[in-house]
Amino acid sequence: MLKVENLHVSVDNKKILDGVNLEVLPGEFHVVMGPNGSGKSTLALTIAGHPRYSVDEGKIIFKGEDITELGPDERAKRGIMLAFQHPHEVEGVKIIEFLQQVLAELKGLDPVEAYDLIVEKAKELWFREEDLHRYVNVGFSGGERKRLELLQALLIEPRLLILDEPDSGVDVDSLSVISRKIEELHRKGTAILLITHYGRILGHLDRESLKVHVMKDGRIVKTGSGELVDRIESEGFGGIFEEVRE
Ligand code: ADP
Ligand code: MG
Ligand code: MG
Repeated sequence: MLKVENLHVSVDNKKILDGVNLEVLPGEFHVVMGPNGSGKSTLALTIAGHPRYSVDEGKIIFKGEDITELGPDERAKRGIMLAFQHPHEVEGVKIIEFLQQVLAELKGLDPVEAYDLIVEKAKELWFREEDLHRYVNVGFSGGERKRLELLQALLIEPRLLILDEPDSGVDVDSLSVISRKIEELHRKGTAILLITHYGRILGHLDRESLKVHVMKDGRIVKTGSGELVDRIESEGFGGIFEEVRE
């Protein structure tokens, strides 16, 4: 479904990704780990089509189509969604209006149909109806921001959901609801590409079924199953980087 081939990416003329290869099949669950600065967010933003990230070499194929040159809206229409590491405040735009617009564009729902659906799903992520009349992320805590990203994902049900550290800066209660909702989307058939530093977000997912990639200096240097997550949590990246150097 997603094929990233020999991807070289730079930002503001600084080379960041140095030949990333990655293939995600429909419904699979992939985890990307790696030290800060290894290029995880750059990979996520490039797949989503962020205009600041320029592809110098290689390509991104989604459902058989080369999307390397497509804008982020076109990629969203094809079923790719990115939940941001640092969701931004959007002063003056109410959550409900924003989500109604998203559902109109991606699902063809009219505002009234969308309203009820949004309120229903919002409750599952602990937002009350009145919260939806606040501006997007303005004054929101870390946990609220990440839950709002998940709310968008639940509403859109993308084919591929990329989550950039959905567990960073969230309280333990938010963490458990976020983890459950990621699992729910995965069960319904959404392929997941999850960037994280911690195994906890993986909840009760079967470790054997996961594909885990470790990034270093703009490349994927190791791929394995879920046991890699536990190993990295207990030992850090040192041992793995030693191995791949040999
Ligand atoms: P990670 O998500 O793994 O922490 P990033 O993809 O955010 O890594 O960053 C990879 C590298 O690219 C880092 O060295 C970072 O400083 C650099 N970088 C990211 N964004 C920019 C930018 N807009 N301008 C310059 N350098 C950037
Ligand atoms: Mg980082
Ligand atoms: Mg990052």
